[in-house]
Amino acid sequence: MRVVLFCDMEGVCGIQSWEQTGGSSPLYQEGRELYTEEVNAAVRGCLAGGAASVVAQDGHGGAYPGGRAFMNWIPSLLAAGAEYVRGYRWSSYVEPLEKGECDVIGFVGAHARAGLENAVLSHTVNADGWYSVSMNGQEISESAIIAAIAGSFGVPVGAIAGDAAACDELSAFLGSDIPCARVKMGLGRYAVRMLAPVAARALVEETFRTAMRSRERWAPPYTTRDTVVIRVELASPDRARPMAEYEGVTLVGPRTVEVEGRTFYEAWRKLWRPWS
Ligand SMILES: [Zn+2]
Repeated sequence: MRVVLFCDMEGVCGIQSWEQTGGSSPLYQEGRELYTEEVNAAVRGCLAGGAASVVAQDGHGGAYPGGRAFMNWIPSLLAAGAEYVRGYRWSSYVEPLEKGECDVIGFVGAHARAGLENAVLSHTVNADGWYSVSMNGQEISESAIIAAIAGSFGVPVGAIAGDAAACDELSAFLGSDIPCARVKMGLGRYAVRMLAPVAARALVEETFRTAMRSRERWAPPYTTRDTVVIRVELASPDRARPMAEYEGVTLVGPRTVEVEGRTFYEAWRKLWRPWS
């Protein structure tokens, strides 16, 4: 079984402020360590559950002053037994999916979409610049976007670790009882009730170990029979206009763009470029 883990920082246990997710504050270093160790726990769980290979990718951009986009892990602390993708833009490293080298994906450190209540550090793609993303009229989270990208390549979702809102949201989107590691619960956007990080890591490890052995609980590859229409509502017109220059992207309001495709990925790829 070959696993790809899509990892983010905001849903990691112990993290509940932006200062822990980027910038020059010492709290960012604390966040990096918490993030690295929780990813390690998921890797250990996958391997213990029988995964033949694990590729984890750092999907946290965190364009804060002094932050290092997609380079948040502390490399010297990373667990052996997996490969790690750093420095590559969120949602864009799809090579294992394209090549048929991924049997299942999982999420670590997942957070909920912008605007959801009691969701820690909730946002969708960009906390300042994006208001919402919807697919065929339904508002969706970053995890749902990635699940739909994987689904475009026929790949199922096996497990998720993150805050309770993110886990509940993705389970509802996929209509499935995937194994979830709810490492914290939002008491607002910047307050949490959480496990101790060491306990969260044990939970994440066990959840991924279980998931590897419970194919019947995986969410089938996400697909839709309808044409996929993705609508992105941005914070302001200056954010929308440059996107509307891309081929296939339509400006449908002063700060709203739309794309469409036969699959989610075909549509998404029109507005989201790996290195734009
Ligand atoms: Zn992030």
